[in-house]
Amino acid sequence: MRNTVEAAVTAGSAHDKLLIEKLRLARDGSPGTATILALGQGHEHTATIRVQPDEGDVFETTIEILKGRIEVGQSVRVRFNPAHHSKVVLLNTAAVGGLWHVAPHCPDCGAPVDLAVASVAAHPTCAYCRHPIPCDPA
Ligand SMILES: [Zn+2]
Repeated sequence: MRNTVEAAVTAGSAHDKLLIEKLRLARDGSPGTATILALGQGHEHTATIRVQPDEGDVFETTIEILKGRIEVGQSVRVRFNPAHHSKVVLLNTAAVGGLWHVAPHCPDCGAPVDLAVASVAAHPTCAYCRHPIPCDPA
């Protein structure tokens, strides 16, 4: 059991690191719209996407996704690193009907965001540290 627990903790740390990286990208990356071309098979959560930057040329890339909440053919607002096209983060797709697509966690303190509140707020902010939450018009 001990080995199992340690493995779980290690996996959690790697996941957290990935999450923080994605949150920073959601805040600081360039905006664009991605179309989901294909989803990875098996337990590797990957997606092949075509990104249309708000400014610039279309590119295709394969990204890791944290949760399987997207479907092939779906359009999703994204932020990406212009210098590394493999670094693309999907903004939250659950806030349908709100003003904003909002990042699911605060990039500064990691607190979960109340999407129901943040997606309709004039200026979404973290309920814990009060920093702005990355968001894009819905
Ligand atoms: Zn915060």
